[in-house]
Amino acid sequence: MTDNEVALSVDVEDWYHVPAVTGSSFAKYDSVDHFFRSWEGRYDYLTKPTYRTLELLDAHDVTATFFIVADVVDRYPGLVEEIATRGHEIGCHGLHHECAIDADTKQPRFSRPAYRDRLLEAKRVLEDATGQSVTGFRAPGGYVAGWMLDVLEEVGFTYDSSVSKNSLYNKTDSELQGVGTTPYVPQTTSLEPHGERTFVELPWPYLETRVAKIPVGGGPMLRFLPRPLLSYGLSQALKRGDTSFYFHPIDLARESFPAVGNAKKRPFYWTNKGRGAESKLDSLLSDIGSNSICTCEEAVRKTRQRHVHAR
Ligand SMILES: [Zn+2]
Repeated sequence: MTDNEVALSVDVEDWYHVPAVTGSSFAKYDSVDHFFRSWEGRYDYLTKPTYRTLELLDAHDVTATFFIVADVVDRYPGLVEEIATRGHEIGCHGLHHECAIDADTKQPRFSRPAYRDRLLEAKRVLEDATGQSVTGFRAPGGYVAGWMLDVLEEVGFTYDSSVSKNSLYNKTDSELQGVGTTPYVPQTTSLEPHGERTFVELPWPYLETRVAKIPVGGGPMLRFLPRPLLSYGLSQALKRGDTSFYFHPIDLARESFPAVGNAKKRPFYWTNKGRGAESKLDSLLSDIGSNSICTCEEAVRKTRQRHVHAR
């Protein structure tokens, strides 16, 4: 038993926000605006599973951080307000879920002023809708670079939770040499630890085996990996310190999404979503236990206190 906790978070986005459909260098549509100019079918596959998510968290008596794409506020009336009313922390998951760096080159897709303006707009929209101060960020698609943290800090965010060190992929501009599974203070313009600032990075966990580091932070891994593996990976990470886990309400969506972009290029991407993912999540939350679950802000606050004491 340890006092370490899993910071639980929920990324609130719909099926058309994923990088294969909009907002990335390999998207079917340039932008969410472009998608809505051409799309005439039903778009909302998010509302129902978000309400089921809220019920599930209530049943486990846990409070989480919801990283929300800001354009959800206008297109899903009342949804974001409901999340805040239920007492959850509101974080930011971009204005339209655009990846800020290119998937292949890791070079910026926006100028720094343009990125800054989008962040400010997203933060304002979420704060106006919920009355909460929004201080946490998760990079859309998990594509994150050191310079992005500097801009986040400039516009008033105090933490980010996007970095995943593992043996399967690296979506950052860094080798992540010093990064583990516990929250840390990054250096300026870097994702590497041992910085001297108040900004905190809350990375995603991996399961360390003799041959590889397997990502167990959630998202697609909630759908792809068996529960015992996720559970074991989380308990291993908890021995090292606080860690994190996340999922999407659309991981729990029971209907098939329209066959656009991702469905054609990545036919297995949404495999295992729906009831199976929901019951796996339910069991996993029981495995962790509500006493060992906190919000991202709570984990970040503990990190900052430790950092101040260590100086
Ligand atoms: Zn996302």
